[in-house]
Amino acid sequence: MQVTINQSTLELLEGDITQQDTEAIVNAANTTLLGGGGVDGTIHREGGPQILEECRKLNGCPTGEAKITGGGRLKARYVIHTVGPVYSGGGRGEAEKLASCYRRSLEVASANGVTSVAFPSISTGAYRYPIDEAARLALSTVMDYLKSHQDLREVRFVLFGQPAFDAYCEALRNLAA
Ligand code: ADP
Repeated sequence: MQVTINQSTLELLEGDITQQDTEAIVNAANTTLLGGGGVDGTIHREGGPQILEECRKLNGCPTGEAKITGGGRLKARYVIHTVGPVYSGGGRGEAEKLASCYRRSLEVASANGVTSVAFPSISTGAYRYPIDEAARLALSTVMDYLKSHQDLREVRFVLFGQPAFDAYCEALRNLAA
């Protein structure tokens, strides 16, 4: 599923983010930036030790922020590491922090001359953010960003598994309507 916003493409697909050929892929990291499970573990495994070596020099990353490294052996030239909120009911600023992950990742991409970015569904794995709400927030934040910025040609959401893909398609249909 794909929509055009202000001459940029916003695309949803089911797949593995480590196999994407966008200039940057985004990692759902933790505050240490020293690796973890889920998509973080897969990115470090596929990208090789060079990414972790660079991460060690970054002194971690606060929740809602984003930091960039090279992509190691990945097709993507860069990995943008962002830290999503752990969901604990929704009353602890989780929505604002999750939106900030997407915004800050796009700002870091732009600041590094990146014109195509792939995102995973941040916080919806180990951090337990409800997928429907996370999808709505992720897509509306990226759509708002694309409406007011010209420098990104393509933003791709790479959803792991059919249920996540379906949730994002449903959210995009609702937002586009
Ligand atoms: P978080 O701690 O932010 O919740 P996780 O890595 O546990 O991060 O999960 C975030 C999302 O990434 C989940 O929806 C999970 O299904 C998805 N995911 C896991 N592996 C991959 C992958 N290789 N490509 C894309 N998405 C992935």
